[in-house]
Amino acid sequence: MNRYDYDLLTIGAGSGGVRAARMAATTGARVAIAEDRRLGGTCVNVGCVPKKLLVYAAQFGEAFDDAGGFGWSVGARHIDWRQLIANKDREIERLNGIYGKLLDDSGVTLYRGSARLLDRHTVEIEEKTYTAEHILVATGGRPSRLDIPGAELAITSDEAFALEELPESVLIAGGGYIAVEFAGIFNSLGSAVALHYRGPMFLRGFDADIRSTLAEEMKKRGIDLRFECCPDAIKRGTTGLKVHDSTGSTTDVDQILMAVGRVPRTAGIGLEEVGIELNTKGAVVVDAYSRTCVPNIYAVGDCTDRMNLTPVAIGEAMALVDTLFHNRPTAMDYSNIPTAVFSQPNIGTVGLTEEQARQNHTISVYRSTFRPMKHTMSGREEKTMMKLIVDSENDRVLGVHMVGPDAGEIVQGMAIALKCGATKAQFDATVGIHPTAAEEFVTMRDPI
Ligand code: NDP
Repeated sequence: MNRYDYDLLTIGAGSGGVRAARMAATTGARVAIAEDRRLGGTCVNVGCVPKKLLVYAAQFGEAFDDAGGFGWSVGARHIDWRQLIANKDREIERLNGIYGKLLDDSGVTLYRGSARLLDRHTVEIEEKTYTAEHILVATGGRPSRLDIPGAELAITSDEAFALEELPESVLIAGGGYIAVEFAGIFNSLGSAVALHYRGPMFLRGFDADIRSTLAEEMKKRGIDLRFECCPDAIKRGTTGLKVHDSTGSTTDVDQILMAVGRVPRTAGIGLEEVGIELNTKGAVVVDAYSRTCVPNIYAVGDCTDRMNLTPVAIGEAMALVDTLFHNRPTAMDYSNIPTAVFSQPNIGTVGLTEEQARQNHTISVYRSTFRPMKHTMSGREEKTMMKLIVDSENDRVLGVHMVGPDAGEIVQGMAIALKCGATKAQFDATVGIHPTAAEEFVTMRDPI
């Protein structure tokens, strides 16, 4: 007779929760998962997937612009935003279905409804209670808003994916991933875009050359970048919205998108009542094995606010399944996690920035800035920037950074090299693929 209804009950069916539930079930464990919204979490519904689909839509605008140099004549162009959003929604629905089928096929019981912890082994879902030996909290996060008058008139990324009309003008507040990605999307689709960031240069935490290169490229595309500037009040105007900012200016726009960070979704699910510690941002505090201070309760993904990326949540989930169901205590390895920002052009990065590397290493820096071959004929004045940070003492490559087309695709391969501890000599000994932009990473000979 089993003491509990389930071996594992997961709250939240996003990237981390679904992966943990499915992988645990394949070991023969009895697993349930609760979800009160659509399956797939932020990534599938209001994050990575719809964002990338909109980025593809945006890139067509650029391709039409560039086509003339290659002999094409492109006629009148028009973006049907409603069609784009409807097609995107259809694809998301298909993915929601796939997530349901994956859970079903692996024998995971899905409960639709909001879950709440009653005690350390009991969860209430829609007025029924279930017990579990292990409980996993994987509730993700939600966008935050600036605390300013009229903040409710702005949208966040959640609403941006479902707008009825493409705004003629949009002001984006923030300077992180979401701000620069949406700036690129709206700009390429034809909206007039302004981006307000509170500091001297956006994308804090990225390599300085990445930040300045992207800023230059965004300006070339006509995005109105305003640094040291932040909205401080929003009002309804006669037609759209009026934004007052910290520099004293007022701007009239159709939409204001707040992209000022995300907060963990941890309220109202009984976490603190059962003794789980939350930090000042409301994130679940966990150890290296994703365990909370209540020994049978774990948390992975954005609700822990460690590194808020889908593949990281999945990695944490896999490590947890190893720990709990394969008798192999495993901690997620956070070193050399690559990431891409789907701005126009893209950013791809892995390892240490120049600034970080200088703190503990003597380094050589290799940098190349060039016009991609395509633009010698398209006429576009866009530059690609690539950069390698190398430890001068042992020749190890510590960081790889790129701004340019397909940077995410290119840097994924570089990330394997860094994970293997590749040296600059090994980069140099690698034969390039010609003609590509990526070959530049194996042909940079002179440090700057
Ligand atoms: P980020 O944390 O990346 O950026 C938040 C931005 O808002 C920063 O520029 C920050 O400024 C600014 N900000 C925060 N608080 C305030 C404030 N009170 N007033 C003015 N500005 C403020 O958050 P995002 O919302 O862009 O994205 C959330 C997370 O989602 C990312 O960090 C990333 O982990 C993930 N993500 C990943 C993507 C990908 O992999 N491509 C895509 C989208 C999201 P400052 O830097 O000065 O603090």
